[in-house]
Amino acid sequence: MKLDLDRTPGGRTELPLDEEIALQWAEGRPDRARLVGTLTVDNLEGRVLVSGQVQAAGMAVCSRCLADFDFTWDVEISCMVLRDPESEEGRDDSMVLHQRSGEVDLDEVCRESAVLGYPLTVVCGEGCKGICAGCGRNLNQEECVCEADTHDPRWDALP
Ligand SMILES: [Zn+2]
Ligand SMILES: [Zn+2]
Repeated sequence: MKLDLDRTPGGRTELPLDEEIALQWAEGRPDRARLVGTLTVDNLEGRVLVSGQVQAAGMAVCSRCLADFDFTWDVEISCMVLRDPESEEGRDDSMVLHQRSGEVDLDEVCRESAVLGYPLTVVCGEGCKGICAGCGRNLNQEECVCEADTHDPRWDALP
């Protein structure tokens, strides 16, 4: 997503966001996500603040049953464009960009925010039964066969 500093009026405006971005991170997490929402842009003296809560949607892997499913999560975006390329302020903060004019590329801000907002565990549904640790079956689709497998014939002889 681009924010055009030259065309952003002073004061508060809204910036609609609807963009597909590559996340490229850990396995089992969405490769790509579509970010949709509205950001608030505050164009102040010397700096522009971009913030808002948007929704990200992508293909996730369920932490319990390992199935792929469409997952939507909240992404909090809060970044600042300092209109002084020389400024040392926020140099070690990836949410602070330094640019005087022209188009600011907010893709990396969106990517990092989407990654940060992603929950540690995601499940395909409240009722997901997961995978049996014993027989490895997806219990949403099949019955567990552990009891049959671990049945010990020695007990059969007992009265
Ligand atoms: Zn699941
Ligand atoms: Zn089992």
